Amino acid sequence: MKQAKILLLGAGYGCLSVLKNLQENTLKQAKFTLINNNAYHYHTILLHEVSSGAKNQSTCYDLKEILPKEVGLIVDEVLSIEETKVITKNGTYDYDYLIIGLGFQSDSFGIKGIEEYSLSITSFSSALHIKNHIQKRLETYLQKKDKNDLKFIVCGGGFTGIEFSASLAQELHKKAKILGINPSDIEIFCVEAMPHILPMFDQNMSKIACQRLENLGIKVLENSKILECFQDGILIQNQDENKKIIANTIIWSAGVKGSSVIQNSPYFQSERSKIKIDHFLHPLQELPNKNKIFVVGDCGALQDPVTNRFYPPTAQIATREGKYLSEAIEAILSDKDFDKPFTFASGNSVCSLGKNYALGTLENKNIFGFKAYILKRIIENIWNLKIKGFSSLFKKD
Ligand SMILES: Cc1cc2nc3c(=O)[nH]c(=O)nc-3n(C[C@H](O)[C@H](O)[C@H](O)COP(=O)(O)OP(=O)(O)OC[C@H]3O[C@@H](n4cnc5c(N)ncnc54)[C@H](O)[C@@H]3O)c2cc1C
Repeated sequence: MKQAKILLLGAGYGCLSVLKNLQENTLKQAKFTLINNNAYHYHTILLHEVSSGAKNQSTCYDLKEILPKEVGLIVDEVLSIEETKVITKNGTYDYDYLIIGLGFQSDSFGIKGIEEYSLSITSFSSALHIKNHIQKRLETYLQKKDKNDLKFIVCGGGFTGIEFSASLAQELHKKAKILGINPSDIEIFCVEAMPHILPMFDQNMSKIACQRLENLGIKVLENSKILECFQDGILIQNQDENKKIIANTIIWSAGVKGSSVIQNSPYFQSERSKIKIDHFLHPLQELPNKNKIFVVGDCGALQDPVTNRFYPPTAQIATREGKYLSEAIEAILSDKDFDKPFTFASGNSVCSLGKNYALGTLENKNIFGFKAYILKRIIENIWNLKIKGFSSLFKKD
């Protein structure tokens, strides 16, 4: 009998979680092919540390080393998806079942100048680019003594912006010392439109985070709406007053949307480059083959049935969706009925604030300080163990 072709797009948390949870037997029952734009998988939740220079290769895994041997790997860029095929830069691939896990891209919300003048943390290569840009600014400062080269603006006080700001402050301090720059000449601004940073936590936690960032020398600007971005800074509105903040480095981490591939695929109705999905992870819209298409992770939009709000895009939900899909695929390939919907209850959530400090919630209780940091490292290592086993724990940069 002809084997079913199961095509997976994107080697992120979603698709890798599908493949890593499949039984060996199931992997032999169909032809599994993964298309990814790199030959490696990167730990997206650590990209802020790659951007700041705190980490490098330890966040990456060669896909050939971590994929089950039954899975075919194609390194190519997906351009669009049609009813029966996927179009890539170098070819066309048909499928019987399709799993889309192409992740996210930055969303400028149409703010003038953001796309032209800011950098954003969206992939391993973009993170390396930011790290090199920061190094270059410091070196240029040594030659030209332009103080704006020592000023850095981080736009967004959500998880990514806060984790990056804290790591950046610590790394810049070290780099400045090595280059003979006075660390106190460095200025980092973290700008947030809402009244408090980290709005997903309660106000007390937000205050603790603010204090920690200020201790690291970061100027936290809350209630500050970004109106425009320029090559040399941003214009903000704070309590009806407009003010320009000057800096030669602007990092945009105030918003993400789904994948550009979804946006470029008229087969799907999309909103903010995401496909709305039902609780079996199929597209919500009526499509002739909707039961053969699944969406995992950030390029899918799934509504929480309790709050009716869309779940925020996290690695946590992407990996759970992937695990759920591995069960769905096993049932499909064994001709069994599978009518269990995907359910999700957000678990622990921890935000790192530089080395040895984090804060978050553990079983609905607030935690902060070193023990939260340890929890964060445990969460990261659970994924490393899943994809590479014990050797991942000793991986060095
Ligand atoms: C700095 C940072 C910190 C974060 N911290 C946390 C955290 O602490 N906890 C948490 O739960 N979440 C966190 N997140 C969010 C989390 O990383 C994402 O929600 C998660 O990565 C989504 O997983 P995914 O499988 O959808 O996509 P990804 O993990 O982003 O993977 C997408 C994959 O698709 C590939 N790809 C993209 N486009 C194409 C294309 N056109 N063709 C081929 N391949 C393509 C990419 O190379 C990548 O391998 C953080 C995000 C960032 C940026």
